[in-house]
Amino acid sequence: MGIEFGGKHEPPRILTTLGVPLLALTLFGCSSSDTPTPDQPTRPGLELVQNPSKINFASYDFSPVIILPPDYEVYDFTAGYDENRERHSDFGIGRFNEKRPGMYITDQFGGIRDIHMGLDIGAPVGTPVHAFFDGEIYTFGYNPDEGDYGNVIITKHRLDGVDLYALHGHLSADSITGLQVGQFFSAGSVIGFVGDRHENGNWNPHVHFQLSLERPITHDMPGVVSDENRADALQKYLDPRLVLGPIY
Ligand SMILES: [Zn+2]
Repeated sequence: MGIEFGGKHEPPRILTTLGVPLLALTLFGCSSSDTPTPDQPTRPGLELVQNPSKINFASYDFSPVIILPPDYEVYDFTAGYDENRERHSDFGIGRFNEKRPGMYITDQFGGIRDIHMGLDIGAPVGTPVHAFFDGEIYTFGYNPDEGDYGNVIITKHRLDGVDLYALHGHLSADSITGLQVGQFFSAGSVIGFVGDRHENGNWNPHVHFQLSLERPITHDMPGVVSDENRADALQKYLDPRLVLGPIY
């Protein structure tokens, strides 16, 4: 189960604010005087995020992929997907490593892949999508099938000597127009925009953000996996909260 973050989200600063005490604790053995005061955010859930890589994520300062308002929702798709559910915000988070029965019914999922290996960020069509870190365009394209990613960009980043890939799915068509493989960008740069149904695989507008230690072959990654493949998948598809912070 995810841990609610209480709606007090400070996207650009969470990892910085929270990473520094953690680092200090690790490197200098600080005492209990470092206990957060009431006006500082605590770190709900982040210590629960598994990191099978050699990357020390807490030592980096990452940018938010979507700038979220304070009142965003955290969705629960464990009982399936209700297209007509009541929404309380235009923005919302779909959780990583969540089993979503009945949500992936088109042929490509084979009826058995329903464990989500990315993190969804629901936002209005046209919302800018930012690079979480310095990097380059690794690949991009259009996956046109119903239920697929639509327009997708995969970026490549290097952290602590490790190559890390990030898929951004369900983007608008103009996100990939004029893009070039190998193009460099810095953290926080706008690399795309949230797409509409006709260009995003026919989903409600959102970005599927997925981290991979494995080099993708093309502009694709399995966004959901079967029970059987879950353990293996969790070794290569990292929890996006490692770079997005404890947004749930
Ligand atoms: Zn997704």
